[in-house]
Amino acid sequence: MPHDSTHLPGNHSQDLWKRALDLIPGGVNSPVRAFKGVGGEPFFVTKAKGFTITDADGRDYVDFVGTWGPAILGHAPDCVIGAVREAALNGTSFGIPNPLEVEMAETICRLVPSVEKVRMVNSGTEAVMSCIRLARGVTARDRIVKFEGCYHGHVDSLLVKAGSGALTLGQPDSAGIPSALAELTITVPFNDIEALKTVFREGGKEIAAVILEPVPANAGLYLPKPGFLEGVQALCREYGALLIFDEVMTGFRLAPGGAQEVFGIRPDLTAMGKVIGGGLPVGAFGGRRNLMDWLAPLGPVYQAGTLSGNPLALTAGLAQLREMERINGWQLLEELGMLFEEGMRRAIHGKEMTFQRIGSMFCLYFRQGPILNLADAKESDTTAFAHFFHQALDRGIYLAPSQFEAGFLSTAHSPEVLEDGLKTLTDILKGA
Ligand SMILES: *Cc1c(COP(=O)(O)O)cnc(C)c1O
Repeated sequence: MPHDSTHLPGNHSQDLWKRALDLIPGGVNSPVRAFKGVGGEPFFVTKAKGFTITDADGRDYVDFVGTWGPAILGHAPDCVIGAVREAALNGTSFGIPNPLEVEMAETICRLVPSVEKVRMVNSGTEAVMSCIRLARGVTARDRIVKFEGCYHGHVDSLLVKAGSGALTLGQPDSAGIPSALAELTITVPFNDIEALKTVFREGGKEIAAVILEPVPANAGLYLPKPGFLEGVQALCREYGALLIFDEVMTGFRLAPGGAQEVFGIRPDLTAMGKVIGGGLPVGAFGGRRNLMDWLAPLGPVYQAGTLSGNPLALTAGLAQLREMERINGWQLLEELGMLFEEGMRRAIHGKEMTFQRIGSMFCLYFRQGPILNLADAKESDTTAFAHFFHQALDRGIYLAPSQFEAGFLSTAHSPEVLEDGLKTLTDILKGA
């Protein structure tokens, strides 16, 4: 996509980008970083602290991405860095049980309403993948239902969206996924309980699990309609399918217990990640005791990891959660979120735009709302978004480089920082 902005990365970033393109596919280790959604070249970051990221050319930006969610206290909070530094002196990996694993399990089970037992993994993708395998193992069924626009990591079975219409069998979104596997995934529009009913009526006894982001935040951000999550759970129970909440994004962010606490729903299994890693690579999945006990070595569902329960990662995650509890970070984030929302709503008043928010997650869509599902989100004017993104970047504000990603606030985004940012964004939007 072309972009008509003056923003160019500095010399150091440009040089790094050339070298990266030569040796790393697309120059990046995760596709969205390549700026394909907004055009132009990405910059390289050498340092991050609080709400600020600093690029290889020494330029500072106010960061509204927060490493895609984990940085809930802002970047490199002293409590996390200090704890990791100290922990590293005792060794970086043991491959033998360590006390932090017990402490993390106790913390997760205390905070997340539906989780009675938990296992640690190394990424959100791995957490989701393990939930799916466990659900299939427990139910002895193969089919999975997911919702259009919900992202669950790059798990084979879940890189699928509807080919045409809600009830068709899935077509893989990626090369390299066997169609035999993709066919086991059924996709349904989010917030459409009737479509899900039809799916269950036609083949409910073959469905192992329904997986969803309770608040989808990978196609921008939209919320479940009142009663939708309850409806999904009721159908799962009626047909004996498991309900899996993918709370990799929402977990420990919307509330200590994630979206399931906010909406009062207890899923059977929950995938977690991002915030619980405190910026290190961590995932986790958990649920009811009788389900989790199907895992090896107790049960027949195999799941393992050399670095799972890594002491540095758990130290970072625990330090971050402890600090969030100490300062009641979730209340603070709600207040900051409200302040930001009020300012953004004023800024887009009378324009063909929609600002959606829950807690510290937000999205500005370049179209009239409300946006309730992927089809709505896709109607957004991505060219206008790209223009807005680059103008903000020019003025030192880093937003997610795609219309279809959520933005994040952290506790480091003080009211002053937000007011400042709002002034700049308002100014840019005057011309939009
Ligand atoms: C980020 C994300 C994942 C994947 O997590 P990774 O750590 O990137 O593998 C899965 N589900 C949701 C909802 C996510 O936002």
